[in-house]
Amino acid sequence: MNIILMGLPGAGKGTQGERIVEGFGIPHISTGDMFRAAIKDETEMGKLAKSYMDQGHLVPDEVVIGIVKERLGKADCEKGFMLDGFPRTLAQAEALDVMLESLAREIDHVINIDVDRSILLERLTGRRICRSCGATYHVVFNPTSQEGICDKCGGELYQRDDDNEATVATRLDVNIEQSAPILKYYEAKGLLRDINGQQDIDKVFEDVAQVLRGKTQ
Ligand SMILES: [Zn+2]
Repeated sequence: MNIILMGLPGAGKGTQGERIVEGFGIPHISTGDMFRAAIKDETEMGKLAKSYMDQGHLVPDEVVIGIVKERLGKADCEKGFMLDGFPRTLAQAEALDVMLESLAREIDHVINIDVDRSILLERLTGRRICRSCGATYHVVFNPTSQEGICDKCGGELYQRDDDNEATVATRLDVNIEQSAPILKYYEAKGLLRDINGQQDIDKVFEDVAQVLRGKTQ
């Protein structure tokens, strides 16, 4: 079972990813981990990627695809894999298809954890941190008993600069713009599975699992 996991920041992609790995026994392949491993193991593509990065250049798509290909060739991917954070562009999605074809494999499902922008904003801007002890809270999901005051030490709570609404909204909108053509691409191929991410975590996973089981039965 070969899947791509997608979802905007705050949609709960990380949690669902962990559950998919546990429930279906396929490796979680994130771009960051894959790059770090390729560079550390000094694979052919890892060395190439490092040479671009050392010069302060972006790693070109051919090399990114090369790293994904090396990773998918490992034994733990035989029964399937879950890509996370890749593809990031339409060009990468198209190149991924060509590469998978060369391996005689294909994507079975693109799982998109779907949550409204307004709810993501609420989730992402609600974090509060204690100035004294560093404890973290959320105004909706994990509030303190007294507003603005740390339950543990009585310290004052504050909002980090990157949690403010303007910053979060910009980050979200960039993500929405980047992922739209990719979602459209997979929708046209009949692979897109939109999952309602506005339910409780267990129900979200139930829906994901149902999609994944449908294919394997
Ligand atoms: Zn505190």
